[in-house]
Amino acid sequence: MRKTSYKGKTDFFLLFVASVLIVFIIFAIPQYTFLRNSIQSVSCNAIRKNLQKVVEQYKLENGDNVFIPYKEIDTIMLMEKGYTDKKLLVCPDSGVYMLNSQGQVYCTKHNPETEDI
Ligand SMILES: [Zn+2]
Repeated sequence: MRKTSYKGKTDFFLLFVASVLIVFIIFAIPQYTFLRNSIQSVSCNAIRKNLQKVVEQYKLENGDNVFIPYKEIDTIMLMEKGYTDKKLLVCPDSGVYMLNSQGQVYCTKHNPETEDI
């Protein structure tokens, strides 16, 4: 009799631990994803601003027709020509940087709404 009662307590404890773990996982994973996404979004935003300046500078020196709207910005060319001393300007979430018709840089993953402005 005593043995079953002890076993019952262990089972209850294990169940309790399992529930806590499940609850933790349910709450922690979306938080983690959210945090990760917002970090990527913030750094993408910073890179876009940087790229915007680089593009403006390049246009000033090489003319307006270098960049075709709605086509991927040639960041490798910009880096090779020394317009950016930083490492390659790429979206941390593998979005693609393009220019809209107003010449604004946008990311296909993080602010695709800018495409239509
Ligand atoms: Zn992005």
